[in-house]
Amino acid sequence: LLINLMFLMLPMFLAQVFWIDRPNRKPRRSSIALGLIGGVTAFFCMMVPFHLTSGYFLDLRMVPLAICLMYGGYSSGLITASIIMMVRLYQGGPGVPSSFFVVACAFLGYMVISRRLPKWTSPNKIIAAVALSLWLSAATLTYAWMIHSDIFYNSLHIRLSLQFAAIQGTATWIITYFIEIIIKNTALRGMLEQSKKMQLVSELAASVSHEVRNPLTVTRGFIQMLKNESLSSEKRTAYIHLALEELDRAESIISDFLNFAKPQLRRLEALDVLQEIRSTADIMTPYATMNQVNITLTLEEGCLVQGEKDKFRQCLVNLAKNAIEAMPEGGTLSFTAGREQAGIVIRVMDTGAGMTKEQVDRLGTPYYSTKDKGTGLGTMVAFSIIQAMKGRISITSSIGKGTCFTITFHST
Ligand code: ADP
Ligand code: MG
Repeated sequence: LLINLMFLMLPMFLAQVFWIDRPNRKPRRSSIALGLIGGVTAFFCMMVPFHLTSGYFLDLRMVPLAICLMYGGYSSGLITASIIMMVRLYQGGPGVPSSFFVVACAFLGYMVISRRLPKWTSPNKIIAAVALSLWLSAATLTYAWMIHSDIFYNSLHIRLSLQFAAIQGTATWIITYFIEIIIKNTALRGMLEQSKKMQLVSELAASVSHEVRNPLTVTRGFIQMLKNESLSSEKRTAYIHLALEELDRAESIISDFLNFAKPQLRRLEALDVLQEIRSTADIMTPYATMNQVNITLTLEEGCLVQGEKDKFRQCLVNLAKNAIEAMPEGGTLSFTAGREQAGIVIRVMDTGAGMTKEQVDRLGTPYYSTKDKGTGLGTMVAFSIIQAMKGRISITSSIGKGTCFTITFHST
């Protein structure tokens, strides 16, 4: 009996492990799979029957059939039933017609409840499954009674039938209970992911509107001042310049957000890490010089990663910009790249202010910035780009000494 129960439980644990993370299956295919699993389970149950009293061999084959009918509909049920019948025919013996009769009863019972089934809540479904299995026990008993009417007066047989009905009912109850729990957990997980996404979206919306409004207000102010006829042409040029700068800022904020919202890489190509870091360093040199920062490069040749050129550069630029900004009194920004045991490893290091552990943990969340004109988007965008490139990013930092961003692309 315990072995039978184990056979019934096993598919559920397997389902937990293999199924749940892949929800996008075609319903048709999964109902066929369910039918096959039910059939195999029933087959195993039939191979190892148990006996309540010597001579009466019983097994729980009807439990998978009832469950496949309940959760997979007719197609699953038919597959399971045909496997059961094939095995039963192969085994032969006087019980074959009885088996056919009970299987037919299973479909009959399912027909009665099938229409209302989708509307039921999970406790009702469990009750329905148990009722179905009790109905099958009753069918077995009825059939036996029709064939040998004397059996009905045989108290041993009646006792066994009742015991069997109780066992089958309990087994069905346990299995459906677990299935309902699994279904509930899966739904809960989906909801959790959804609400995480919603939270991120609302945070993003809040910071977008906040961040874009500032430059717009500033631009509006300058344009308003330009209305003043008596303004000198120098001031006029300066204001226009400032207004344009602010508009550029708004634009770059928006494009940062778009980059974040759409980190999927469209055109994957092999990028030479050495080249990308060199050109990033070139881009950053003026900014670095302005802040008395030296840039050093230690690069190995021939490190290739899959990604999109512009985005990868943007990620490096964002990290480099932060590094430079962390060194207001000057310092060294170093890039290293090379092959290590873990794969291709890129490091962006600075000798700047560093961060506490709490600050490091907050990196990459939108809107976290310690700078006056900061947006808190740089690291967030960098992280999402690395994630889209299937890389990992880790940070070590110590206050006053500096920070190291390590990007690892595992070799596959
Ligand atoms: P922003 O640069 O606009 O502030 P980021 O997302 O790029 O936004 O960075 C968020 C914050 O993380 C920064 O304000 C800064 O406090 C901290 N930070 C990021 N990189 C470094 C670094 N290399 N050294 C020290 N602090 C850093
Ligand atoms: Mg930044």
